[in-house]
Amino acid sequence: MTTQRTLSIIKPDATRRNLTGAINQRFEEAGLRIVAQKRVNLSRTAAEGFYAEHAERPFFGELVDFMISEPVVLQVLEGENAVLKNREIMGETNPANAGEGTIRKDFALSIGENSVHGSDSEESAAREVSYFFAGTEIAG
Ligand code: ADP
Ligand code: MG
Repeated sequence: MTTQRTLSIIKPDATRRNLTGAINQRFEEAGLRIVAQKRVNLSRTAAEGFYAEHAERPFFGELVDFMISEPVVLQVLEGENAVLKNREIMGETNPANAGEGTIRKDFALSIGENSVHGSDSEESAAREVSYFFAGTEIAG
């Protein structure tokens, strides 16, 4: 078991419905520590760069429009196996397939407006954390 950091984003459908605290409670109850957090309005350029791996997907334009539509909360979560643990807490991308008690099962509105982002591997996590946070902004 190793301590890891992962990037989490509370997405616009959730910030709009005032669910930041409810979602953070899920992370903390599962033993993940929020070691950095900032609420921002993403620029189109920042959102396109962040989701560059999906640029050719048919939903890319819709995804970027959604992510810049309202504020998001960018976070670094830290804990034992944080990358996989966060993916488990989040649940499947499509809330219709998400397990009981997951964030997406309980809060997501649709496959697109699915309340949270979480890095999908240690490699992605390192890239995504550094995309949004300077080392000095993270206090573990
Ligand atoms: P995850 O966020 O679970 O890692 P993906 O990396 O596959 O999922 O997709 C990134 C995001 O793009 C999803 O969280 C969701 O907001 C959006 N998305 C994925 N698939 C679709 C789809 N079929 N239609 C609309 N939006 C989608
Ligand atoms: Mg993904």
